[in-house]
Amino acid sequence: MIDASNQKFNLAIIGAGMAGMAAAVFAAKRGLSTVIVGSLVESWFTGGLIDLMGVHPIESGKSWQDPWAAIEAVVKDIPGHPYAHIPREDIKAALQEFYAFLNDAGLPYRFEDDRNSNLITAFGSIKTAHGIPQTMWPGVTALSDKSPCLIVDFKGLKGFSADLLAERLKEEWPGLRTLSIPSIYGDQVHEINPVPLARDLEIAEYRQKLAGLIKPHVKEVEFVGLPAVLGIHQPDKVIDELGEMLGKPIFEIPAMPPSIPGMRLKEAFLRFLPVNNVHCLFQKHVLKATPTSEGEFSLDIGRTEHEDSIRADAVLLATGRFLGGGLQSDHTTVTEPIFDLPVFQPGNRELWHGDGLFELGGHAINQAGLETDAMFRPLDPNGQPAFEKLFAAGIILAHQDWTRMKCGSGLSVASAYGTIKAIGGLMS
Ligand SMILES: Cc1cc2nc3c(=O)[nH]c(=O)nc-3n(C[C@H](O)[C@H](O)[C@H](O)COP(=O)(O)OP(=O)(O)OC[C@H]3O[C@@H](n4cnc5c(N)ncnc54)[C@H](O)[C@@H]3O)c2cc1C
Repeated sequence: MIDASNQKFNLAIIGAGMAGMAAAVFAAKRGLSTVIVGSLVESWFTGGLIDLMGVHPIESGKSWQDPWAAIEAVVKDIPGHPYAHIPREDIKAALQEFYAFLNDAGLPYRFEDDRNSNLITAFGSIKTAHGIPQTMWPGVTALSDKSPCLIVDFKGLKGFSADLLAERLKEEWPGLRTLSIPSIYGDQVHEINPVPLARDLEIAEYRQKLAGLIKPHVKEVEFVGLPAVLGIHQPDKVIDELGEMLGKPIFEIPAMPPSIPGMRLKEAFLRFLPVNNVHCLFQKHVLKATPTSEGEFSLDIGRTEHEDSIRADAVLLATGRFLGGGLQSDHTTVTEPIFDLPVFQPGNRELWHGDGLFELGGHAINQAGLETDAMFRPLDPNGQPAFEKLFAAGIILAHQDWTRMKCGSGLSVASAYGTIKAIGGLMS
């Protein structure tokens, strides 16, 4: 652990989810002295896919293959959407730099510049995303060609059933076969946790065992799909070797949490940040932020009680929404707990949710968040930046329902890039 107490930084990032971590990478590459504070929970990165923009308008459920056309339509229809603050070339630059970082960190992603790609999920649905882990990419090709394919599940691994998946997809992809294999640990094991399974598949002996169980069933298929548990640190090696043993290309299918692709993302950030001079105060929280008379910020850090203080010229709030704690609510109002910033929200509690749980247009509360200026600075009640050097990025931003619009990680990465560009501009 690096002792950051009494140190002064150019930038303090609050929140270590996708937005905070991406911002830390962008800041490090631009030489900003940076500290990041927040707890590491891999489920923040769940799925491992980079959604850029997939659905608009949400009430129609219209799905877009061209994310740029989708963003253009969103910005026209919802002028407050965070993408309205980022020119297209900056979103492209953000993605390019982010994918390059992942590649350098040993976690290559595949994407088509101007198209979303489709892949199947553990639920038997077809998902559209922009950035796809390389380990899942052959599944994009297989789905597009509707190639004969074997889907394999592990008996005892919960939340992934090859039969269920094939049954749900039988109209779109009739060429799916299924196989349920017994445990690679022997007959006595009834329940498998994906995390130790992924670790064990990095051991040659278990890989050989797995290949031996699948091999007799691959004669008439062109691809083999497995849940995303094929190694944590070296998934490409696991997949290449399995593919060689089976003589067929292998692909991973996004599965239920705990998410192995999420863990891989977390590991990629952890490999990069500390050695690139980012001070990492993980497992700690910002308990209180105080603006100083010099225009800086003093932050109180700790687990539950104050342990340290740090100072920074600029602060980036990347604390997420309700799940992450970036927004809080009582029975009447949504609040932002660190700076007490105004939160865009429905006029009263009655309006938070629609009548049905699966309301087509979503729920108004899921568009709550911070409104900002074009530099991602949260606004005060008069519509002016609350502080000159306070910024916000990620899903804490208002006017977007990332789960329904399918823009979670893309929006986080793009707004992180936008804030670092703005901060760099102010500091130069
Ligand atoms: C279950 C699930 C599935 C997902 N699937 C996809 C997907 O398929 N595709 C996709 O593109 N995106 C997906 N996402 C979204 C994506 O992974 C990110 O969650 C999203 O981009 C939002 O990132 P964020 O950093 O803004 O917020 P969050 O991910 O919510 O992170 C906010 C962080 O801030 C921390 N924090 C809050 N308050 C403080 C404080 N006072 N001090 C320090 N830290 C604080 C929280 O602990 C949290 O770690 C999924 C997310 C979840 C949860």
